[in-house]
Amino acid sequence: MESSLVKDNPLLLPVNKEMTAYDGFITVQERDFRLRILLPPDRQLKQARLHCCWQLKHLLHGYEHIVKQRLQQSADLVNFILELKTVLEVGLKSRPECRSIPPPQYYSQLILEMETLGWGKLLFIDTEFRTLRLKAEDSSGRQHALTVKLKSKSTLEQLHSQFLLVLESLGEFWDVLDEIDSKTWILEPERPSRADSMRRIAIGNNVSIKVEVDPRHPKMLPECCLLGAEHVVTPLRNKLNANMHMWNPDSSVLHNLRDVLEIEFPSPATHEKSSFSVECGICYSYRLEAEIPDQVCNDPRCGQPFHQACLYEWLRALPSSRQSFNIVFGECPYCSKPITVKMAAQKA
Ligand code: ZN
Ligand code: ZN
Repeated sequence: MESSLVKDNPLLLPVNKEMTAYDGFITVQERDFRLRILLPPDRQLKQARLHCCWQLKHLLHGYEHIVKQRLQQSADLVNFILELKTVLEVGLKSRPECRSIPPPQYYSQLILEMETLGWGKLLFIDTEFRTLRLKAEDSSGRQHALTVKLKSKSTLEQLHSQFLLVLESLGEFWDVLDEIDSKTWILEPERPSRADSMRRIAIGNNVSIKVEVDPRHPKMLPECCLLGAEHVVTPLRNKLNANMHMWNPDSSVLHNLRDVLEIEFPSPATHEKSSFSVECGICYSYRLEAEIPDQVCNDPRCGQPFHQACLYEWLRALPSSRQSFNIVFGECPYCSKPITVKMAAQKA
């Protein structure tokens, strides 16, 4: 018993050889509480007396009857201390003001570090002074925010300059995407964040290319996927495959895409976005949750786009359709030409 008592509570030690008096600390949620336990000569736990520090007394206020009951019921001191800690954890939870408050040096250090860094960089600090958000500008003038949970050993200035280094390493990646975002129509994501490396760029009516830019090698040939009706996509795919070797890593992704596909991308300067966001022919909306209509009738005279989920449900409901594995074969609701659709992937 004694060995596991010391193992669980290394700061609580017997102070006499009869082992009837213990003094020291018990630790709950990273806080130490002073405690003295006096046992009768027969070491019966039921007769034990507890002397608690004022913080412990304060926390156990209202729980005295439970502590007494545990003292009566616990098999030995190890079990009793375990029970006592459980009660203390509950007490700490119900009294948020008793949670550990950092020492005054914590605040003076924080103010000192903010002064070094510059108060102008502070965007937000929570009421407990534990989480703060800092402004950071990369060398291209892009604004970023860094959220810091104040626990680390590094100073705010160190964290901030580490963050700036990471920003600089991603500068080329954002240059590539900024050019695409400003000179083309982006169909997806709807509002790209700095973390988004995918762009779906409009090429024409119901034709688009999905590119996945590698943040570490942003100017290399990205992963590309052409989407749209077969008769438009096939020639573009052939050009992509034939001209891939022309990809020039010194040039931007947008310029390379233009050269390799031999096209001009419609841009905000030349086209309205509405000409590329044609609604689904079944539900008559553009966005269905996050999905946009990316299934297109392959008949060149029709070319009607549909949401995958809409087309799948529509075709499945028709007796003339047939299904093979996860593909449904049926007729386009608009022109009655053959159309196929894969079963929509289940959203996790
Ligand atoms: Zn739809
Ligand atoms: Zn059709």
